[in-house]
Amino acid sequence: MAYLLKSARVITLDPPNIETADLRIEGGQIASRAESLDPLPEDEIINAAGKLVMPGMVCAHTHLYSALARGMPAPPRTPANFKEILELIWWRLDRALDAEAIYYSALAGAMDAARAGTTCLIDHHASPSHIKGSLQIVREAIQEVGLRAVLCYEVTDRGGPRERDQGIAENEAFLSWTRNAVSPNSPSTAPSPSLFRAMVGAHASFTLSDESLRMCAELMREFDAGLHIHAAEDFCDVEDARERFGAGVVARLANLGALISKTILAHAVHLDDSDIEVARNHGAWFAHNPRSNMNNQVGYAPVSKFMPRLLMGTDGIGADMFEEARFAFFNGRDSRAGLDAGDWLRVLANNQKFASTLYGTDLNSLPPGSAADLLIVDYQPPTDLNEGNLAWHLMFGLTSACVESVMVAGRFVIRNREASFDSETYYQNARRTSEKLWARLRETR
Ligand SMILES: [Zn+2]
Repeated sequence: MAYLLKSARVITLDPPNIETADLRIEGGQIASRAESLDPLPEDEIINAAGKLVMPGMVCAHTHLYSALARGMPAPPRTPANFKEILELIWWRLDRALDAEAIYYSALAGAMDAARAGTTCLIDHHASPSHIKGSLQIVREAIQEVGLRAVLCYEVTDRGGPRERDQGIAENEAFLSWTRNAVSPNSPSTAPSPSLFRAMVGAHASFTLSDESLRMCAELMREFDAGLHIHAAEDFCDVEDARERFGAGVVARLANLGALISKTILAHAVHLDDSDIEVARNHGAWFAHNPRSNMNNQVGYAPVSKFMPRLLMGTDGIGADMFEEARFAFFNGRDSRAGLDAGDWLRVLANNQKFASTLYGTDLNSLPPGSAADLLIVDYQPPTDLNEGNLAWHLMFGLTSACVESVMVAGRFVIRNREASFDSETYYQNARRTSEKLWARLRETR
């Protein structure tokens, strides 16, 4: 299918650029771009005059497995601290996930992401009662919606050595699958090979022994993959690393060979200057999750020290990056230690650039040859919108509600607000699955 998008205002986030252009889309890519393009016979012409066209949003840290948690039964008692939030809520939920719940969590999360204009999800999955094959279930659900995703399984010692080993094996299986799927020699039957990539997942320093982290580092080396790990989300992680290993959380990862430039350190709220320095020296990325940090009351991350290696995620609170950026901005204002609007725009672009390096294709701007992952946005500003004030429009007016169409690799996932997937049936199935999941949760009180 070939499309010719006429007269769109095409946006790049970093450096901010707005330019009226025609885009021709074919073979999953931007085939050509110019001030004016004549249609080819096979082109479907889309009049995008008055609309914005921008690269799809990327969520740099999420947990699709938590999508069916919305409104779930209250925990047996109110968590008193961060560790209890994990023990009483998330570790009970992830243990209650079976294959069906994994699938519908991922499906519901991916559908929400698509509607919010997020075309690529960097996910961190856990389902300790159903580890083997879980990433393929997540992959199938995301593929049903039509998004890109970078998947990993959360390796941890919290369930003992058997579950730890299964977690390592699950990462290895998916790393192998993506490697074979992107190889030019892969069989043509490989399902949408180019839309999926893999990382090595690990929970957090405080639930991992040196032996477990070394196993992760070995996988990273074997597959040239980054680690996706929570780092110093709460101070308990820092205390644990100092007490058990006499090192900072990040220094510990570096010592064990688990810190490379493709590594994502999620949250990084309590990293001290020396750990931040180690991370920066290794070129690792920090993923800020403002809504989750506020919700868990873990503190305000020293975001200004993370630039320019700063990414942003939602930590499973949906995947709406327009909204997350606004929370980041206002949370930063309130903390008197945040970044300015333009910096948050840069962070959104960093997400796209990070994904670009994993996919080996341009996902952060729309020149000829880049991936056709784009949003058509119906935003009618009451004031002039230009390169100098784009960030301010994003903070105060341009929301995901303006996203009209979403394209991934040249295919419309949502077109004129109509989904290409059967969302009504899927949401119904998700609700039915959530009832069963919640019933299991009530049993584990
Ligand atoms: Zn997380």
